[in-house]
Amino acid sequence: MSPRRSSRLTNAKSAIKKNSKKAKSKKAEPEVVRLLPLSSWKVHMGNDAPLLLKAGVNIYVAPKGEETSEDDGNDWWKARIKSLGKDKSGKVWITVYWYYCQEHLDDREWLPFPLSKKLRQHMKSMGGNEMVLSNHEDTIGIDTVKDICKIWTFNDRDINVRRNIGLKDFFWRFNLNISARKVVVDNLSLHCVCQKVYDPEADLQIYCSGCDAWWHFKCLKKPTPVDPFKSLEDQALCVPVIRGQDNELDFADWQIAGTGELVKKIQTWGDVFPEGWKDELGEDFMKICLPLAENAYVCPECREVM
Ligand SMILES: [Zn+2]
Ligand SMILES: [Zn+2]
Repeated sequence: MSPRRSSRLTNAKSAIKKNSKKAKSKKAEPEVVRLLPLSSWKVHMGNDAPLLLKAGVNIYVAPKGEETSEDDGNDWWKARIKSLGKDKSGKVWITVYWYYCQEHLDDREWLPFPLSKKLRQHMKSMGGNEMVLSNHEDTIGIDTVKDICKIWTFNDRDINVRRNIGLKDFFWRFNLNISARKVVVDNLSLHCVCQKVYDPEADLQIYCSGCDAWWHFKCLKKPTPVDPFKSLEDQALCVPVIRGQDNELDFADWQIAGTGELVKKIQTWGDVFPEGWKDELGEDFMKICLPLAENAYVCPECREVM
């Protein structure tokens, strides 16, 4: 665990404790209970354009006066706005759902009940900047909002991911459901014959369009070489969709979400590839993905060649 992530955890702990305390004590007071609903609210931060806060927007949260050393948001708490309201005195309050990061899921101090051993094992596959969206809500003062935070939604069953998720991007795919009796992770997706959660930093997977499923290369039978291609363009048309990384590879920009969009682009070119198509696909794609077309992998489920 890097020191940076530990410091995020420490700050996050103090942030949520303060926030929870504030929210709880304020909830008991009648003026906060009677909030006038607001559909949105603009916050002016210095000379920058105002932040438009409304339901569904992700925000960085830090208690007032909390000093942070980094400006990339690692030290701040992240939350999704559920609703906004104004109290009698005119102060604006925000009800949020908190995002939890991997460390929180492993720490008894954070959860009212521990995750099951099996779930804890599954959640070890979370990416470094991955979070889970919890149903843990708090009402916090507008003055604790630091900025708008980009947290991408990632459906890891899908190959049509509209945007690449970079190594520095925050993203979420699973929900943390905290109830009176247990804490579970909802809508967990398990892949491959080994039925594991996709780990974008340790797994290399191939997609089968026949059964719409992802498989680890390491869990598949040895592939068979295909006949040589007439041209590089022909080879590119046979490249499978992959995602993730094994330790041999450097990070490519399609790594977390996969090459679905790039492969789709190649298909639309058909027989007429544009000039500069290799640059358009990128050096990593040419180096890592193109050679994969030389081997035929058979899907363990539907027997289709991938
Ligand atoms: Zn597997
Ligand atoms: Zn298949």
